[in-house]
Amino acid sequence: MASALALTNARLLDGTGAPPRDGAAVLVADGRIAGFGGDPLPPDVAVLDLEGRTLMPGLIDAHVHLSSLGLPHVPPELKAYGLAFVARRMLEAGITTLRDLGSHGRSLFDLRRAIALELCSGPRLVLCGQIVAATSPGGRAFPGMYREADGADEMRKAVREQIRQGADFVKVMSTGALTVDDEDIGPAQMTRDELVAVVDEAHRMGFSVASHAEGLDGIRLSVEAGVDTLEHGEMSFQAPDVLAAMAERGIILVPTVCVFDSVVESDAFPRWMQERARLLGESARKTVEAARRAGVAMAMGADAGPHGENARELVLMAEAGLSPLEAIVAATSTAARACGIDSEAGTIEIGKLADLLVLEGDPLEDLGLFLDPNRVWLVLREGKPVAGTRLRDTID
Ligand SMILES: [Zn+2]
Repeated sequence: MASALALTNARLLDGTGAPPRDGAAVLVADGRIAGFGGDPLPPDVAVLDLEGRTLMPGLIDAHVHLSSLGLPHVPPELKAYGLAFVARRMLEAGITTLRDLGSHGRSLFDLRRAIALELCSGPRLVLCGQIVAATSPGGRAFPGMYREADGADEMRKAVREQIRQGADFVKVMSTGALTVDDEDIGPAQMTRDELVAVVDEAHRMGFSVASHAEGLDGIRLSVEAGVDTLEHGEMSFQAPDVLAAMAERGIILVPTVCVFDSVVESDAFPRWMQERARLLGESARKTVEAARRAGVAMAMGADAGPHGENARELVLMAEAGLSPLEAIVAATSTAARACGIDSEAGTIEIGKLADLLVLEGDPLEDLGLFLDPNRVWLVLREGKPVAGTRLRDTID
C-alpha cells in the first residue's frame, strides 16, 4: 500500500462531539491525519472509497484489566498467549488504545514490547504497573496486582517504583472494592496524607493519577487531593458539590457501569456480592445521569470485560442518559484525555495519529453496532490496516 491513503466518501464522526459530516474525505500519510477533502491529493495516493460508511477515531477504553482474560481456563504458563489473544480481540472490536488499570507483575509491559516488535498485534497500551494501595484485603485477593504501602513516605516510594518500571500513570485505591470479600467501600482506605503524597509525587514527576473510588468518603478525598480520573465513583450522585468540583477541575469520571452488571450476571461471585453489585449498579446509573447534568466529562471503561465487548459500556451509558454522540465522545476524545494522549489521538484532526475505525452503518442510530464484529469494516492503527472485514474479504 502506498504510504498515503485517501479515505473518501465517508460519514465523518471526528470525535470532538461535532455532528457527522457526509461525503467527507480524510488523507492519511506517514501514520497521521494529513488533510481533508477539498485539499488537492498528492501524487501516488491510494484511494479507498468508504461508500458512506462511518469513519471515526479508533475506540479508546480508559479502564480495562486485560489480565482478567475472561477466557475459559488458561493455565498460568500460557497466560502470555492469552494476553496476546485478548489484545487482538480488542483490536478487532475497533479499540486502538486501552488504559490498563492494574495487572499482575510485568506481563503487560512485556505484551507492549511484543506488540512493538510486531510479534503480535494489539491496541496501544497505557499502563499503570501495580496498583498503589494501603495494606488491605484487596492485596490478598489479587496477589501481585497491588503494591501495598502505608504512610506518606512509603506511598511516594510505591509511586516511584511504578515510574521505575515504565508506568504511564499511577492507579491508587482510595476505597475498597466491590468484588473483594472483606472490603467495605464506605470508608476511605487511605489517609488524606497518604493520598495527597501519591498525587503530589505523581504530578511532580509528570504522571497522572487514576483513583479507584466507590464510596463517598474516598470520592470526596480523591477530588480534594486532585486526582485526574475518578474510577467507578458510583456513589457520586449523592454529592452534587463533589460533581460540581469535578466539572470545574476537569476531573474525568470513568463510571464502568458494565462491571456491576457483569458481577450480577456471573456465577463466579457469591449471592450477597451480586446483590451488592445490583444496588451499586443502580447508583452508577444515577451517577452517570447526575454527572452529565453537572457537566462532568465521562470516559468509557469496560473494566474486566468481556474484552472485545467494551462498547457494552457505551450502550449502558446511553441508557443512563448520555446521547449517542456523547457516548462516542466518551469513547474517543474524552477517553484520550483520560489516557493522557489527547494531543496524539482521540479525534480526527490534522497532525494526529491515524488510529481510525470504519464502521458499517450509523452508530448514532444504534450504539449496539459496535458490538457486531461484522460491522467493523476496517481498523487502522497509525495508518496501518490491522483489522476489519475489509481485510478478511481481501484474503477470501
Ligand atoms: Zn478496575
